[in-house]
Amino acid sequence: MTTTSPATPPFVVTVSLPDLLPASRLQPGDTFAFPDTPTPLIVLNTHREHDYSGFLRLDLDGQDQPLCIRETEDIRPLCLPRTYELTCPLCDHVAKGRIDIAAYGEPRILVCRKH
Ligand SMILES: [Zn+2]
Repeated sequence: MTTTSPATPPFVVTVSLPDLLPASRLQPGDTFAFPDTPTPLIVLNTHREHDYSGFLRLDLDGQDQPLCIRETEDIRPLCLPRTYELTCPLCDHVAKGRIDIAAYGEPRILVCRKH
């Protein structure tokens, strides 16, 4: 990417996510789709099933019934807003921010604006 936007601080190095992720990565507030259907689904809540280990119960926006899927099932991440907290390796300053890792990748290294 050659452009920067307000959502991506310019000195954060990110690693792109793969096209598909296991459902266990989903958190409330995420948007995803199944690989074979384009319909975006918004996660309101996630619960680990206690009776059926390895399964997740997802409350989805606009759906009356929760969805029960395997934690290992592939999903296509569309929007995964995450908070990051990274230490600048040059001055040990800790910076926090929020980034959509589906669009920009996972933050790995941050160099703060002092350098
Ligand atoms: Zn620094």
